[in-house]
Amino acid sequence: MTIRVLPPEVADKIAAGEVVERPASVVKELIENSIDAGASEIRIEVRQGGRRLVRVADNGCGIPAAEVELAFARHSTSKLTSVDDLTHIVTLGFRGEALASIAAVSHLTMLTRTAAESTGSYLRLEGGTLVRREGRGCPVGTIVTVENLFYNVPARLKFLRSEATERRHIDQLVTRYAMAYPQLRFSVTHNGRLTFQSTGSGHLYDVLIKVYGLEVAEQMLPIAGAADEGGSEAPLPAKTGEGPQVSGYVSSPALHRASREHLTFFVNGRWVQDRMLAYAVEQAYHTLLPVGRHPLAVLRLKLDPAEVDVNVHPTKSEVKFMHSDRVFAAVQKAVRRTLLEQAPIPEMGARPTQWTAADWERRQALSAAGRERPPVQLALEAQRPGEFPPLSPAPATTDKLPPLRVLGQVARTYIIAEGPSGLYLIDQHAAHERILYEQFMAQQERITTQTLLEPMTLELTPAQTAAVEEQLPLLNRLGFAIEPFGGNTYLVRAVPAVLVGTDLRQALAGIVDELAEGRMPPLAQEREKRVIASVCKQAAVKAGQVLSDEELRELVRQLEATAMPRTCPHGRPTMIHLSQAQLEREFGRR
Ligand code: ADP
Ligand code: MG
Repeated sequence: MTIRVLPPEVADKIAAGEVVERPASVVKELIENSIDAGASEIRIEVRQGGRRLVRVADNGCGIPAAEVELAFARHSTSKLTSVDDLTHIVTLGFRGEALASIAAVSHLTMLTRTAAESTGSYLRLEGGTLVRREGRGCPVGTIVTVENLFYNVPARLKFLRSEATERRHIDQLVTRYAMAYPQLRFSVTHNGRLTFQSTGSGHLYDVLIKVYGLEVAEQMLPIAGAADEGGSEAPLPAKTGEGPQVSGYVSSPALHRASREHLTFFVNGRWVQDRMLAYAVEQAYHTLLPVGRHPLAVLRLKLDPAEVDVNVHPTKSEVKFMHSDRVFAAVQKAVRRTLLEQAPIPEMGARPTQWTAADWERRQALSAAGRERPPVQLALEAQRPGEFPPLSPAPATTDKLPPLRVLGQVARTYIIAEGPSGLYLIDQHAAHERILYEQFMAQQERITTQTLLEPMTLELTPAQTAAVEEQLPLLNRLGFAIEPFGGNTYLVRAVPAVLVGTDLRQALAGIVDELAEGRMPPLAQEREKRVIASVCKQAAVKAGQVLSDEELRELVRQLEATAMPRTCPHGRPTMIHLSQAQLEREFGRR
């Protein structure tokens, strides 16, 4: 559809309102435009909490050169033409006022190109006035850069909160969209640092891990009966008048929070705030949660667009349902059924099987009897029985690990350990990667290197050469000393100290492979992290390597000390947790 100015009678019907309240509102409107434009990748760049700069880049359809100026006129939209269209809105935007409103209070630059055109359009507006327009080469898609927000509205500027607060609003917003659209890849950088990235895998669960962490995600239950176990979106209802289709995840009763802010709802892909929906979810948990505690939920409702009015609030974050009773019933039923089918029965009055001092002594005596030397004190110190936190109601949901007691190694790959809330299986390689990665990052400017007695030559393929050439300054900053030796040959004179003790040739080959194969992130800092992760991967103990008891314990102890023990630097889990409740269920003890 082409962009045109809405006839005044349509424009007037549209709830007017200020759309730009703070930097997060800018991000919201731009993201919605990107989604409406069919983008699969949306990159958000923020500087100084958005006050200095907000940039949203997408690979969507772009705007034709002939229409791009019109996009900034008030009430110009390509998504709506008549009043009738207002009754079944399927796009996120429809008022045609976001770009105009944002441009009016900032310095805005747009670079956009459609697939049908060979050059893109570049536009610069200051306070809503077009100051520059020219043709420019750019990829298909749209990049909107909003700088110096509210520079001409000092009153509004005064109301902006601290950078951290504005950042939090932006992060919250982006993570919501990432959950609503798991098939899209979102990334956010703040002052050049990547802080969030979704995979675009299409699975809501993958986004939950990124947003809430693995520990919480593991305790979320997919809505029963939803297509693909809550992984994919529910389809639109087949016939009008049918209740909404509900998909998504809700927390198991063992997981709860002090506030309702973790109840997230999307109606036809739009994030909404709605008390009725929150109440429906809480009703479903009736008697399952301790008083004053609230569940977590990420629920996606799909219903006939004709049955929901999205045009009731300027920021479009509130909706009106034509049949709210039906919506209420559908949500409550879906959640209740999920809980009944899948939730572990909450531990009511069951005495937690906590280690007592007597248990502990007996265990010590038993194991000492079977061995020459007594068990190493190291493990004992970390976890005297009294220090175990109580078992119920739920495992700690912070990212820190509880003290773990190592029991042994399975399949030369996994460490088996006991914690206060059940059993942990730890991937020795992933865990070690995490440890080395954090140690490496902590070295900051002073990376310890090891000079090789004899320089090693590396023969590379052309693709590898290109990759190494490009990252040479970075590699050398990270503790390598690598220099070109003509053609595709390089000379390695030193390596980061973490690599000492590994098969160097193999390690270097692995690192070079990763450099050449993966697409390197555009940001220097992200590239650096990636290379560090790659070095740590080579340096880490491998699966299949037999480790002594002492080494196992040391590894777990070091993992406990990391800031993010649950994932390796590549984002894969380092461990699987089998809770006490799960074990009891599996054994039919309940
Ligand atoms: P609305 O989204 O309500 O239509 P906006 O002011 O946000 O109004 O955008 C105006 C028009 O500009 C949109 O209807 C769309 O045609 C075009 N547009 C804005 N952003 C993009 C984008 N990222 N990609 C493609 N087209 C866009
Ligand atoms: Mg819009």
